[in-house]
Amino acid sequence: MPKKDYYEILGVSRDATLEEIKRAYRKLAMEYHPDRNPGNKEAEEKFKEITEAYQILSDPEKRKRYDMYGHSGISESDYIHFTDVHDIFDVFRDIFDSFGGGFFDDFFGTRTQTRKAQRGIPGSDRKLRLKLTLEEIATGIRKKLKIKHFKVCEACGGTGAKSRSGYTVCPVCNGTGEVKQVRRSFFGQMVTITTCSNCGGEGKIIKEPCNVCGGEGRVYGESVVDVDIPAGVREGNYLTIRGYGDAGIRGGAPGDLIVVIEEEQHPFFVRKGNDIYYTLLISFPEAVLGTEIDVPYINGSLKVKIEPGTPSGKEIRFRGKGLPSVDKNSKGDFVVKVEIWVPDKVTAVEKELLQKLLKEGKNIKPDIARKAN
Ligand SMILES: [Zn+2]
Ligand SMILES: [Zn+2]
Repeated sequence: MPKKDYYEILGVSRDATLEEIKRAYRKLAMEYHPDRNPGNKEAEEKFKEITEAYQILSDPEKRKRYDMYGHSGISESDYIHFTDVHDIFDVFRDIFDSFGGGFFDDFFGTRTQTRKAQRGIPGSDRKLRLKLTLEEIATGIRKKLKIKHFKVCEACGGTGAKSRSGYTVCPVCNGTGEVKQVRRSFFGQMVTITTCSNCGGEGKIIKEPCNVCGGEGRVYGESVVDVDIPAGVREGNYLTIRGYGDAGIRGGAPGDLIVVIEEEQHPFFVRKGNDIYYTLLISFPEAVLGTEIDVPYINGSLKVKIEPGTPSGKEIRFRGKGLPSVDKNSKGDFVVKVEIWVPDKVTAVEKELLQKLLKEGKNIKPDIARKAN
């Protein structure tokens, strides 16, 4: 199959200027880019075709040969062969960048971000366990947390260099942080793009390191951070405090501080969801006759009325007196669970009274109660 004319492929005239050729290629590249035409073999072929044409017509020397001898004036080594179509954009990036106004980012999305020279190396997250009492959870609390972590070196401002002139642009990658490697192969030239090993992708090299941090741009130390704990948190919940993890190396983004909540066991309250349970022990006479008792409550006490004839195991529920949900949309209950206290030791007088009760009482034995039902 005879090769198509390069001018025809790009849709430009034979006397088109370089600018016109660039514009034509840009327009077609947008249209036929494989990311925009997933699975479309035809578009991919078209994309390769326009790229081939562009490589020849955008180079004055190659174009001249093509004008004079046509396809026979061009050899395989005149083309760059790409291992990945995406690399085409990295190699010809200047064309797309010159298009201006966010075009490149809109079109190529995050891909361009990963290819930019990175600033330093990001810091790690730090984890910290925070024990809270039920009272603290009930109300929510502001805590001052002392954390040990890497902080930005103040002496060098995180750059790692002794002074402004203490670092230079990496001569290998010219500050881009990446290196294009052109290999000759059977098909001609192959281009791959890798992170610059000279600067580790940072694009700069430190000549004179900072005395304080030794060139890392960070030092180990202590910080204090105020953390607002919302009411209603529970064991295993965590809060992320942005930027309070380890500072990055040489200006890299800091990690986060992850505060993991732990609940301290309460001496007499038990949490079930957002309900708080309290077990109240009362004597048999109190259960029969009824009474009023002050029970402990969050940061205070609560009066509980025991009705005459309260059975053991009865739950008295105080609606909305439990813990709030973290989203503040609902509140749990405070539940008093009544249990009858059975003494294992009694005095002689108590023994006598109980024996009398057992002998003379008519309604105190469960078998009588069962008959009555
Ligand atoms: Zn470099
Ligand atoms: Zn420093």
